[in-house]
Amino acid sequence: MIDLYKLPPEGLRLNGAVDRLPLEGDAALRDLEWALFALPSGQDIFLEVKGQAIWEGTCSRCLVPLDRPLAVSSQFLGSKDPDLVGRGAHTLGSQDLDVVFLPEDTLEEAEVVREQFELQAPMHPLCSDDCKGLCPTCGKNWNKGPCQCRPEADRAPSALSRALSKALAGIKLDPES
Ligand SMILES: [Zn+2]
Ligand SMILES: [Zn+2]
Repeated sequence: MIDLYKLPPEGLRLNGAVDRLPLEGDAALRDLEWALFALPSGQDIFLEVKGQAIWEGTCSRCLVPLDRPLAVSSQFLGSKDPDLVGRGAHTLGSQDLDVVFLPEDTLEEAEVVREQFELQAPMHPLCSDDCKGLCPTCGKNWNKGPCQCRPEADRAPSALSRALSKALAGIKLDPES
């Protein structure tokens, strides 16, 4: 717990680490390490969060478990002033900083860190760019091969066959043949 209004004038530096921190949904962070810096700036607080972790989640198409290294380096201004928060950004020195509403006098260190990682977490992670996903009928992972539900030709056309049918569409075929 950080007391925002009793910070030393030179700022407060905190380092932390946890083995595992759950995120929203079924994702989590593993081997999380962070460094947090809080510096009083007038009535507001300059905050910096730097850290790294392994993000654990699932492929958004085929749902296999995924691991991704995740690094965070963010700086923002915490303020109690609703006017400043309403403007959304504030220039401090040469930096344009996002303003985050901090109505309380105290700040939960792990919560701030978790929020910053949450913002960096992949939105639609894929096990590979051409992940084929799951069969909506039987649930089989199509990356492991076709299922028995539908004949090959009925499935979503590949880029090659799309290009091929586009090319064929340009050729006039004799309707009688
Ligand atoms: Zn996948
Ligand atoms: Zn199927």
